[in-house]
Amino acid sequence: MRLSKLYMPTLREVPSDAEIASHQLLLRAGMIRLNVSGIYSYLPLGYRVIRKIEEINREEMDRAGSQECHLSAVQSREMWEESGRWATFGPEMFKLKDRNSREFCLGPTHEEYFTTLVRDEIRSYKQLPLSLYQIQTKYRDEKRPRFGVIRAREFIMKDAYSFDKDKEGMEESYKNMWQAYEKIFERMNLDYTIVQGDSGAMGGNNSHEFIALSEYGEGVIAYSRDSNYAATDEKAQVILDVDESGEEEELEEVHTPGITTIDDLADFLKIEKSKLAKMVIYETFVDGKKEALIALIPGHRQLNETKFFNACKVNDFDVQVASDETIKEITGAEPGFSGPLGLKGEFKLFIDERLTRMKNLVVGANKTDYHIKNANYGRDFDGVVVDDLLLVEEGDKDPLSDGILHLDRGIEVGNIFQLGTKYSKALGFTYLDEDGKDQDVYMGSYGVGVSRCLAAIVEQHHDEDGIIWPMSVAAYELIITIVNPKDETQKNLGEKLYKEFSDLGVETLLDDRKERPGVKFKDRDLIGIPLRITVGKNAGENIVEFSTRREKANENVNTAEIIEKILNKIKAC
Ligand code: ATP
Ligand code: MG
Repeated sequence: MRLSKLYMPTLREVPSDAEIASHQLLLRAGMIRLNVSGIYSYLPLGYRVIRKIEEINREEMDRAGSQECHLSAVQSREMWEESGRWATFGPEMFKLKDRNSREFCLGPTHEEYFTTLVRDEIRSYKQLPLSLYQIQTKYRDEKRPRFGVIRAREFIMKDAYSFDKDKEGMEESYKNMWQAYEKIFERMNLDYTIVQGDSGAMGGNNSHEFIALSEYGEGVIAYSRDSNYAATDEKAQVILDVDESGEEEELEEVHTPGITTIDDLADFLKIEKSKLAKMVIYETFVDGKKEALIALIPGHRQLNETKFFNACKVNDFDVQVASDETIKEITGAEPGFSGPLGLKGEFKLFIDERLTRMKNLVVGANKTDYHIKNANYGRDFDGVVVDDLLLVEEGDKDPLSDGILHLDRGIEVGNIFQLGTKYSKALGFTYLDEDGKDQDVYMGSYGVGVSRCLAAIVEQHHDEDGIIWPMSVAAYELIITIVNPKDETQKNLGEKLYKEFSDLGVETLLDDRKERPGVKFKDRDLIGIPLRITVGKNAGENIVEFSTRREKANENVNTAEIIEKILNKIKAC
């Protein structure tokens, strides 16, 4: 491809709404363009990278025995009613009607569709296991689209679904996909880690996330250096030492005027924050009626919303932080003085188990400007006890060793789920086993964020001048820059090399533009083509300069040797 012809609308300025490097660089390099919020177009250079990422996914899925399909983005309401997710998927689902008012959604995922697709044809154990996949566009009306194609409302996903006879089969398929995912992310040169995930809306009880490490990633992971424990912060188990000593003492009301925060209260009473119990109050609507959902946790720790909402069996989008008005209704006091004793109205109280073993807690008195000392679970208050409602922190105990947990950030690029029989039961997908008996099919689902990977790779592979594409996904392998195209010798040599490399199947760009050399060198750095040949003033002696995007150091090479050099470099990647 000639740069003089290539549609590559680079930008000199950093777009103001682009917060992170990958978003800025992909826009500046003319690889993606914003359409409307969270919806992007891929331009020629960007789309070539997307196709490389897709191809890596395709090859590894095929190798893992999965078969490629392509299903529609449009899915009927009826299909989602069957699984129950039409009502529960929430506002991320884009819904639409046809001219006859029949309702559809633009698929945010395809569990229902794949299951209904195969359930009528798969009748016998002889047809299992089966694994199908597609590379297709997904739609999710994300609450906060951001970071360019990392959290988009329309994005490309590779999604695969496995169907097995039993749990063992499902686990085997899961392992198989796990290994395929390792190859996929290695081939993309992503530095990644695998962590336990929360199964959330997908259901099932075992899932893992593949996280590309990046300090700007939205995901937080907790991991140990002393064991193989690694989990998302949503999932990570928090182990707390609890002081169970002491005798239960008499309740005592203390005047705490204007003291509404845990820090101030601990200072005022001169006690440790861990002796305080903190209430976090949310509200939800059940059949049009307001209900408060309350968490009671140790005062020195933060609530893990995912664990809490799972315990409450509610979707996050159905819940909001309680208004001051609700707090007053439930507690009878201003916010800041809430406690578990004597609550009124419609509420459910969930208590972190550790508090049930601690003696003489300090809690809000549900009376403005007052707290209560010596509150004890069982004697003074009651509620649903949950093992662990806490958000993990740096330095927490590793659940698997004597070591501690560390926190890191990253971008979730893939997710694998053991779904069990959740969808097959809901959608009536059974098979006849060897004894002619009906059995539920065991399923798994497996996603890779293809377009998110585009950005994750840039996050990990760039410098201050631009993108440094790994060879495996680069839009082109080689760029030949003719420094001065008005110089016939340079032009002819550049053209000759371009033809030779193209004929050899090397994906080559030729910068034949009549631009200043500085502009060409800047663009070349920005778009990040891994191998570079500069045809300049030594062209007459058949000498060109060779450099890589990563190292940039120029080396004079005789044209007689350049082909072998480039081919070797490509082979080595
Ligand atoms: P997240 O927690 O980031 O919202 P998810 O758990 O909703 O992700 P899955 O439903 O497991 O994501 O989708 C599979 C993969 O699709 C994810 O691992 C991610 O790489 C990608 N993905 C999910 N949502 C988006 C999005 N809004 N934009 C781009 N890629 C996405
Ligand atoms: Mg999501």
